[in-house]
Amino acid sequence: MADEIFTGKIDFSNPDGAIQVAERVWWVGHMLPGDPFQCHVYLIENGDQSVLIDPGSKLTFKHTLRKIEEIIPFSHIRYFICQHQDPDITGALQLIDQLISRDDAIIVSHWRAIALLKHYGLDLGFICVEELGWKLDIGSRELEFILTPYLHFPGAYCTFDRQTATLFSSDLFGGFTEEWQLVAKDETYFEAIRPFHEHYMPSREILYHGLTKLEEYPAKMIAPQHGSIIPEKLISFMFTQLKNIDCGLYLLTQTSTDVLKLTKLNRILHKFMESMVVYKSFREIAMECLSQVSEVIPASKLEFYALSDDSSCLLLSSESMFRPLETTIPKEFDGLIGSSFNQWLEVYGNQVAYYCGGSHGEKAPSYQLTVPLFDPDTKIIQSIAVFYLSSQVSPEDEVVEVLRQLSVPLGVAVERELIQRSLEGERQKFYEQSIRDPLTNLYTRLYMRESVQRLLGINDRDPRATVGLISLDIDHFKLVNDTFGHQAGDKVIREVAWIILQETRESDIQVRLGGEEFAIFIASEPLDRIKEIADRIRHAVTQMSFEGEMEGHDFSLSSGVILRQEGEDLNSALQRADILLYQAKHQGRNRVCVEGEQSSSGAS
Ligand code: GH3
Ligand code: MG
Ligand code: MG
Repeated sequence: MADEIFTGKIDFSNPDGAIQVAERVWWVGHMLPGDPFQCHVYLIENGDQSVLIDPGSKLTFKHTLRKIEEIIPFSHIRYFICQHQDPDITGALQLIDQLISRDDAIIVSHWRAIALLKHYGLDLGFICVEELGWKLDIGSRELEFILTPYLHFPGAYCTFDRQTATLFSSDLFGGFTEEWQLVAKDETYFEAIRPFHEHYMPSREILYHGLTKLEEYPAKMIAPQHGSIIPEKLISFMFTQLKNIDCGLYLLTQTSTDVLKLTKLNRILHKFMESMVVYKSFREIAMECLSQVSEVIPASKLEFYALSDDSSCLLLSSESMFRPLETTIPKEFDGLIGSSFNQWLEVYGNQVAYYCGGSHGEKAPSYQLTVPLFDPDTKIIQSIAVFYLSSQVSPEDEVVEVLRQLSVPLGVAVERELIQRSLEGERQKFYEQSIRDPLTNLYTRLYMRESVQRLLGINDRDPRATVGLISLDIDHFKLVNDTFGHQAGDKVIREVAWIILQETRESDIQVRLGGEEFAIFIASEPLDRIKEIADRIRHAVTQMSFEGEMEGHDFSLSSGVILRQEGEDLNSALQRADILLYQAKHQGRNRVCVEGEQSSSGAS
């Protein structure tokens, strides 16, 4: 049988016999009913220098031995490679120890595994892969060992047979197999690999490191210790997928052994973390959170309660696109935000609170799951997340654990959003201040430069879209200040500004240039209309009256009116209007001087 030439096609018609998987490489494992691990044993047939890789357990060795002897006498095996020390691959060593008749038979392993294996008290000797220089020359071929430390065991390693390009990958690339399948058929095998690795491998970084090292070997077949053999066409796909999984699922819970469920929960966490990095807006992050969580509980709505800077309670709800709205704090959370997480535990006795027949107003759904979002360092509750459920469920431990893990990044996202909103509010306030003069609420010079520029642009393209300008200055204003004081002066400025707003349209640009000087820009009106407006303002100012000290004081202002000339810039237009304004002052004040007119209008 050993002389049989391998055709390249694996014949698994008889799983009860040895199956050749590559040139002189045989699968001699045994299908153990009800064992999700299905440990594989491989024989490299090499005359009296044959090699057995990961010999198997006490439960399977009887069958393995039978299959080996279909190919070679057991005594032809010299090397027993143990890629790690688990009982499912080394348990058989005790039986082997009793069978061995040759003196040069030896167990090949990593020193860390040997330190444990020696406790079997075997007669068989050991040799470390370190001592062998990570290579084993067996005459017809050389086996190379690759250290993949901490992939479930500190001294774990893999073996590469360059002659057949087979990578004996130990636990890596293993999978949970519900149905025995010696060779993976297609990409769906990855779904068997995923939970196996997510649950047993300690971290993504360590796994990535191991995979990167293994990728350097030109493998045409991967023969893992569990699951299915990976044929060449699937190798690069499996590498890529495996590099991107999450590991360390056992951290999720200490009560659940449902690996598939844990894998699903882990994917939720992973996707959420990804959304924190990928998405910019809080709305997107929160919506992603709701959509992820709704895969495990029937969550239909998500809300957050947080405190603002001034200690008022803010509500961010998926119903209002997570825009913060002021609200009253629900009585069940009263005093909890800003307090320590221990206080939460005192009230609810759990990491999450579950309400049946909820109490948030009439329209609220009946079931709620509430998660405190606290700072992991200070343990202070910063905000509270409420998932509204469309049906009654008691969350399982793993779900609670996922919510607990979500709570830290979610808390950061809420905090970031509130800071962002408050900065935006400040910015808006500053912006408003830069465009509106706080005393009069008229536009500022700064805003005038921007907005009038637009009017000039329109006028440049369309000569009918004229720009008219009134320049105004209160007469003898110094006297008001000097007689009645600065505050009284301010009152007069405000009153004049109010008149200006009353006599003009919203679409006009009314500017306080400074002090008691104003300008009004009016688009698409003829000069005589603008003159009328100026005169109405002038007249209204003369009608102003105040109670108290200023009662009976006469007020007036003077104006210059122009139409912007073709191509004229803002400064030049302002200057021309000012010249007319001073002309009005010169002619006795309380009057309007219009360009091109000899006489001014107004009281003389
Ligand atoms: P004229 O008729 O020639 O315009 O005389 P006037 O007294 O109004 O002269 P001028 O324009 O030189 O004086 C303006 C005064 O307005 C000077 C300044 O102290 C005062 N002033 C400037 N800004 C303010 C302000 O915001 N509030 C108050 N109350 N007074 C201001
Ligand atoms: Mg002035
Ligand atoms: Mg003045």
